[in-house]
Amino acid sequence: MSREVRVRFAPSPTGPLHIGGVRTALYNYLFARKMGGKFLLRIEDTDQARFVPGTEDYIKESLAWLGISPDESPWNPGDCGPYRQSERKSSYMQYALDLVEAGHAYYAFDTSEELEAMRERLTAARVVQPQYNSISRTQMNNSLTLSKEEVKARLESGDPYVIRVKIPLKEDVRLNDMIRGWVMVHSSTLDDKVLMKSDGMPTYHLANIVDDHLMNITHVIRGEEWLPSAPLHVLLYKFFGWEDTMPEFAHLPLLLKPDGNGKLSKRDGDKLGFPVFPINWENKENGETAAGFREQGYFSDAFLNFLAFLGWNPGDEREIFTLEELVEAFSVERIGKSGTKFDIAKAKWYNEQYLKAKSNKDLAHYVIAEASAEGITILQDTAEAIVALNKERVTFPAELWQGSKFVVITPTEFDQDIAGKRWNADAVTVLTAYAESLEGYTGAYDAEKAKAMLGETSEAKEIKLGKVMQAVRLAITGVGIGPDLMEIFAILGTEEVAKRIRFALATLEVIG
Ligand code: GLU
Repeated sequence: MSREVRVRFAPSPTGPLHIGGVRTALYNYLFARKMGGKFLLRIEDTDQARFVPGTEDYIKESLAWLGISPDESPWNPGDCGPYRQSERKSSYMQYALDLVEAGHAYYAFDTSEELEAMRERLTAARVVQPQYNSISRTQMNNSLTLSKEEVKARLESGDPYVIRVKIPLKEDVRLNDMIRGWVMVHSSTLDDKVLMKSDGMPTYHLANIVDDHLMNITHVIRGEEWLPSAPLHVLLYKFFGWEDTMPEFAHLPLLLKPDGNGKLSKRDGDKLGFPVFPINWENKENGETAAGFREQGYFSDAFLNFLAFLGWNPGDEREIFTLEELVEAFSVERIGKSGTKFDIAKAKWYNEQYLKAKSNKDLAHYVIAEASAEGITILQDTAEAIVALNKERVTFPAELWQGSKFVVITPTEFDQDIAGKRWNADAVTVLTAYAESLEGYTGAYDAEKAKAMLGETSEAKEIKLGKVMQAVRLAITGVGIGPDLMEIFAILGTEEVAKRIRFALATLEVIG
């Protein structure tokens, strides 16, 4: 019987989830759904020194925003709990002791001074990677070099110790990465990593392998920065005798800075003015904050679509995918091997596409909310009309209102620069005549009619409409650019248009 696919996202609670982490979660989610399996979330909090409160809630909220909540997690446990490593603490020591027993791990009693002296010695001897490994361990204080009695005595007297993995002297370690293919590493390049720390906590490596095994994980999909650890993990599976159920590995390509030079960092976002986190973050303890895509006005479905394409593509021209469509199209084979440049212009493009695709009715509440925050009440119909005016021109929903306030607020001030260039005698002539014709008009008035009447007026005065158009806009909106003016006329109606023209005529000084 084939095993149920079970994947996990295993963040450490060390601060807000970077966009690269969200992408890892998304790919895990897509793979699980595609294979009809389960998506788990495990909090890897064995390193108490790096623990940042609030991280777990942040992760939970970010994934919920994107609609990719895990099937099993600390807040929604399944049968393999607990889902926080700190709560599994008591189980790890026995696994480490089993490895000691089997000769794959050993006690090491070296003090930090002794470790430092070892590194200095190796550096002086021009060893390229001075580390605790299959060669240097023979010179150190551990259960491989000390007598059985001494080890026993030290353990009994409570001497501090760690448990290290005993990397074989000469062995090829192979793994078949789903993205990279065969990866082969010689064991002489690996060091004897600590598995249990002197405080009784496991390190990431031990806890990660034990938990993946106990949680029946079938595929490990994680960032490329973990590829160097993978050979050790393969060895640990072998040492534990769990080779038959060892998960398959897929190491995701790095997310790169926009110029392609190096890994994308929080600082890049700050420097270049875009978010690198899904939602806003605030560290209540030290006041540190980070901007999120959500609060900047990105739709969750647009952001998700953008994220999916940061390292994966469907192999054809299609770019717009719902979450269900992503599940359908997703395959690990179509994840690229090389790093992906982060391009904020693409994120904006996605937002624009999703915004355009939403109905005016659905978007109207953004206008109503934005206006209401400024103490202005807007009716649904007006809000929808404002949406229609701006939908094709904006990237974020907040801009729908920001660029159209003049629809409901009669301008009392005018862009002086435009007035200085455009408010000439011709403009005054056309606008005066247009106001007059509107004041005597009681028929239907839509964008087409508004345009036709304005055209007739300028023709009658023998003035080219194009020459005065910006002045007309200035009179109605107070500024020189904006959405389709005739649509604005239609929303305002004849009375309001005429009133605004009269006010502008009375207020602005004619040039030239
Ligand atoms: N806790 C690791 C991290 O913070 C997880 C790595 C893995 O998925 O194995 O990224």
